[in-house]
Amino acid sequence: MNNANAWEFPWLQNLLESLQRSQNDGTLAHAYIISGARGLGKEQIAIAIAAFLTCEAPNPQGQGPCGECKGCRLNATGNHPDVLLLAPKEPGKALTVDLIRKLSDYVHVSSHAGGARVAVLASAHKMNSSASNALLKTLEEPHESTYLFLVTDSPGLLSPTIRSRCQRITLPIPALEVSLEWMRKLCGGEFDEALATSCLKAAGGSPLLAMAMLTDESLPSRQALERAFVACLTGIATPESLLASLMLAEPITAIEQILSTTAHYAKLMLDTNQQADDGAIDTAVLGGLVSNATWAQFIAQISAVDADENTRRRALLGNRLVRLYDEIEKARRQIGSPTNPNTKLLLESLCWLTSRALK
Ligand SMILES: [Zn+2]
Repeated sequence: MNNANAWEFPWLQNLLESLQRSQNDGTLAHAYIISGARGLGKEQIAIAIAAFLTCEAPNPQGQGPCGECKGCRLNATGNHPDVLLLAPKEPGKALTVDLIRKLSDYVHVSSHAGGARVAVLASAHKMNSSASNALLKTLEEPHESTYLFLVTDSPGLLSPTIRSRCQRITLPIPALEVSLEWMRKLCGGEFDEALATSCLKAAGGSPLLAMAMLTDESLPSRQALERAFVACLTGIATPESLLASLMLAEPITAIEQILSTTAHYAKLMLDTNQQADDGAIDTAVLGGLVSNATWAQFIAQISAVDADENTRRRALLGNRLVRLYDEIEKARRQIGSPTNPNTKLLLESLCWLTSRALK
């Protein structure tokens, strides 16, 4: 997905066109912060901007690079000498001052092709303070035809001085229908709209994340575990059948999944705003992605006509789920500890606790 072209993301098209028009008008700024939630295509849009900035014959109406010139051919292979992509050396690690020095040296050299020179800094919020100071110097001396894009999902972690030196591009969360339509096109004939909608909800509306979930090969086994867990919780199935499902997955992954399910239902039960809307129960569960009819039925059975009594029953369930959450969390810590715990025994006891949790 990282190699996907941002022009093919319908939620970014207007933004790309308006940026390219700014380039044509000569009003494009020299430094931008590109922010927005994960899975919206922040790096892809930075690369798409770099591509039209370094195209020798960009489309005058602002609809992308020509795709044929030498610059475009170099960009297609990721080898354009006037486009620099920088990221932490390992995912999650800091952006160090030596990388930023590389960037400063780079922007001081004039363009190879005589056109624009572009640098993209991924995970920009990972700059440590010396890196941040070094970048500030570069920002204070902008070079003509040099463009810098700082990509981040946490712009608040950038220093205020850096933020004040950059223009902002905030990627929007697309409307559900826009994302669904895009996912439908990518999936072709085998599109499951209900499941895609669940994935989108679980991904907070980010289409790239939702697509990764939808095409994740482990999805069917995660759905099966979700069903087994809720069946045990609501007394439909035995602890033994939940144990069988848990044993099929890697223990920590399985436990994290039932943790997020438990947290989700506890929140639904305790959040008074949700109480008028039992339909909310039938939404995606993070990690599990199941519209859980079993849980909805269970809640319908125990619901009372009297509103106060209903609130009381839901609060009781919510608190029991919170206690179960704590037990699962404890088991997760034990299984993850280096003391060589008996995983099967811990899972067995967890299944038994699950079957008793709401009684
Ligand atoms: Zn071109």
